Amino acid sequence: MGSAPTAATREPLVHELSIATAILEQAEEIARADGTDRVTAVTVRVGELAGVVPDALHFAFEVARDGTALAGAALVVEQVTALAWCDGCAEEFAVGMPPFFWCPSCDRPSQCLRSGRELEISGVKG
Ligand SMILES: [Zn+2]
Repeated sequence: MGSAPTAATREPLVHELSIATAILEQAEEIARADGTDRVTAVTVRVGELAGVVPDALHFAFEVARDGTALAGAALVVEQVTALAWCDGCAEEFAVGMPPFFWCPSCDRPSQCLRSGRELEISGVKG
């Protein structure tokens, strides 16, 4: 991680830009399969631990959508909380950000991640 210089946050990050491009390509395929010719919104589920900055993704999406069939589409980001499973008390707990894999109830380590790494399209609206 580390601290990024503030000026860099104004530029779309290469990482987010390649993700935005992949989302656009995938959404276009989904729209085509559904017979939708005009997409108004694309919803993506982004896990806390997916390594994607939602603000940067929004910006990258706006840059990447230009000139595509999805030029008028909005990006909707659904953030998914990172949850780990504890065998000891059979409960899920939020690992937080940065992640801390330690059950708060029984004070034991747990590496069993249940959610938080999602990066997938959950909906394409025509
Ligand atoms: Zn526990």
